[in-house]
Amino acid sequence: MAAPRSSSTIVRAPSPRFSSFDLSQHGNCTAPLVDLCQPRFKWESYLSKRVFAPIAQPDPNQGDSMQRAYADGTAKPFSSEESKFYLVGGGIASLAAAAFLIRDADVPGRNITILEALGVAGGSLDAAGSAQDGYVLRGGRMLESKYVCTFDLFSSIPTLDESKTVTQEILDWNETMKTASKSRLVRDGRRIDKPEFGLTESDILTLERLAIEPEHLLGRRRIADYFAPAFFKTDFWLMWCTTFAFQPWHSAVEFKRYLLRFVHMVSGFNQLHGIMRTVYNQYDSMVRPLSKWLDDRGVQFQFGTRVSDLVLDEANGETRVEGIVCECEGRSVSIPVGPGDAVIVTLGSMTEGSTLGGMDRAAVPGGSADSGSWALWEKIATNRPAFGHPNVFTDHIDESKWLSFTTTLHDPAFFNLVRDFTGNVPGEGGLITFADSNWLMSIVLPHQPHFIGQPSDVQVFWGYGLTIDLPGHFVKKPMAECTGREIMTEVLGHLRAGNATPDLDRAVCIPCLMPFITSQFMPREHGDRPEVVPQGSVNLAFTGQFCELPDDVVFTVEYSIRSAQAAVYRLLEIAQTPPAVYKGKFDPRVLFNAFKALHDL
Ligand code: FAD
Repeated sequence: MAAPRSSSTIVRAPSPRFSSFDLSQHGNCTAPLVDLCQPRFKWESYLSKRVFAPIAQPDPNQGDSMQRAYADGTAKPFSSEESKFYLVGGGIASLAAAAFLIRDADVPGRNITILEALGVAGGSLDAAGSAQDGYVLRGGRMLESKYVCTFDLFSSIPTLDESKTVTQEILDWNETMKTASKSRLVRDGRRIDKPEFGLTESDILTLERLAIEPEHLLGRRRIADYFAPAFFKTDFWLMWCTTFAFQPWHSAVEFKRYLLRFVHMVSGFNQLHGIMRTVYNQYDSMVRPLSKWLDDRGVQFQFGTRVSDLVLDEANGETRVEGIVCECEGRSVSIPVGPGDAVIVTLGSMTEGSTLGGMDRAAVPGGSADSGSWALWEKIATNRPAFGHPNVFTDHIDESKWLSFTTTLHDPAFFNLVRDFTGNVPGEGGLITFADSNWLMSIVLPHQPHFIGQPSDVQVFWGYGLTIDLPGHFVKKPMAECTGREIMTEVLGHLRAGNATPDLDRAVCIPCLMPFITSQFMPREHGDRPEVVPQGSVNLAFTGQFCELPDDVVFTVEYSIRSAQAAVYRLLEIAQTPPAVYKGKFDPRVLFNAFKALHDL
């Protein structure tokens, strides 16, 4: 179907917000690259050059600013005043897409509807609960200074108290609370400060080879296809796999991307230097301010609405969404999508099928590859190769599952024990991994309070195990079958708590089993993930962890936000690109420091 012609076709000029300092100029080996690579690079100075426009206002002299011209003279059908935008999923990808639509495409919030299966926004970026019943967060998210899309988005979003932007709050917080672990690994009941990587020359050469091997040559190979078994016994691998949640059977392509994307963090990796945190958990510090900003602008949140299908019209090489089929309160509802409307779908979810246990109850496995958020992707991708191959990611629960837990304490004994054991105050140390743990278990004690409204005599921490089918050292059961009490017993055993054991009757430890948590790391090849705007798509874009973006890495908030920014700009043909992915591989100083660190020099 041809796009309708418009009487006034205006090509939008690049927004002044980006004109003074364009990050996209810094992604290749050109002189200005130094600005971003140098350790002195200050987000503050970057951000101060940008306009902190809280809301974009359409220019009344420009007519409808979203009527952009195609090369053949026809106009993009979207209109900032008339077009409706339907965002499937209420995770950070959709929230970000809504914000970019408002901020960078002048779309009024009232024209945006977010359709979310759950009863709350945030998706995998969650945190909930209470001091009494126990708090739950499925993950504690680490950020770092090159989350350029994240910082760009949140430089327009005020904190809940409106005293500064969320980006500024994160930057300020990490100036005072710098991560510097003195106890990255715990082995035999003793902490190891700055563990050596322990790599052989052959391991290092393989890492370097992987870093330069083109992705299409790696294909669906696994990390284990490249390294000798001894590599997976090194402390480098132990720290790498527990920081990023990799397993030997995961994608060699994604492992390669991580090596390049975080090359600037290799030196300092054994102390987690450069890891940034939010003041509170990421739901309170990021999702809540962003949801409020969207709400204030009239964005509609339709919770309890699961999208089960899209009505697609395919003709002349073009694909157009004409309707959305949803399940809402047990009823099937159809939403018509007009010629000037658009749909942005977050594909799948790493937390699909998660189940919670309790202090005296193990989490019961749930979720399957053909249910929940996977069902929509599976349905629309059938016989449409351009929409990717969901089963590549979803059909391997035994290789993608792991378990996290959140513990709420009403007794300072545990936090005092860990502080004295590690030499780090809560919030400073980051991950502590128990090197002897069959479960590959790690814990993180964040700065307290970790939840807005958390009482001052309550502490909350988070942990996880990556291999959950083996018996523990102190509890002879697979982690997957353990109650919260048993998980805490195993933690205390590794810490050799002895008499310092806190009163577990005053603790609530809630296990969370996540069958698809590393599904995005499963081996994949080109075409398994769809493009953000698939070939021929007129009004449909994909966001989240399962669409293809060059260079950047999944299992990050940044990837979802980048996908949202790319989706909005490409779909609406806005003459801007998201800030370029940081490429430390072009900075000799970064490479030199990484080389030294890999050799334990
Ligand atoms: P999701 O948050 O998964 O959102 C998808 C949403 O869409 C869900 O709410 C789902 O219910 C809904 N949905 C899906 N299909 C449908 C449908 N058909 N109809 C209606 N609704 C639908 N990131 C970091 O940067 N650093 C970290 O250290 C880090 N650690 C993590 C640790 C854990 C344990 C977890 C779980 C995540 C971690 N992440 C981390 C990753 C980060 O949280 C995610 O990448 C990000 O939140 C994904 O956002 P999303 O919007 O793309 O997808």
